[in-house]
Amino acid sequence: MNMEQGDFVMPGDVIGVSEQFLPGNWTYEDEGHIKAAVIGNVSINQRKIAIVPKTTTPLLLKVGDTIVGQITDIKGQRAMVDIQASIDSGRELALPYSGAIHISQVKNGYLELLTDAFRIGDIIEGKVMKIMGDNIDINTEDPEHGVLKAMCSRCRKFMVPTEEDNVLYCEPCNRKEKRKISLNYDN
Ligand SMILES: [Zn+2]
Repeated sequence: MNMEQGDFVMPGDVIGVSEQFLPGNWTYEDEGHIKAAVIGNVSINQRKIAIVPKTTTPLLLKVGDTIVGQITDIKGQRAMVDIQASIDSGRELALPYSGAIHISQVKNGYLELLTDAFRIGDIIEGKVMKIMGDNIDINTEDPEHGVLKAMCSRCRKFMVPTEEDNVLYCEPCNRKEKRKISLNYDN
């Protein structure tokens, strides 16, 4: 867990402890740990630890790619996604691509409310279905696709899976929230 200058990290990776470092840009604190909020490289300046987001090595997405991104908004029937990395290529993307998940592309079967599947801030994994200019359609029906990490919408702590399908639990708030959870959900 000892991070060094320049180490490559993914969102949620522990990059230091609060006793040792002050959280800098693109990081957040979680129960004494400082974690990366974006894909990038660790930057340490005296006591301050930060992430420099990846902005080099251009990579074009293609249909069929598996991507990791973050939900930025829920607009009607669409969850908007900042696409941050392509898993197939193992490479981070030049700039965040903007994608969207239509309510019909979330899971097999009927989904009444998009907010029962995604909330702003969730880290998700999905598949690129269609690329039309800047519009990228993402599908999360595969059991391995969906939410990888989700924060409680009340206290912003990461939540843990429960025995129930697609239900997460927030310990501090003692409450449950629904999501379309990936088999790869990060406990
Ligand atoms: Zn909570």
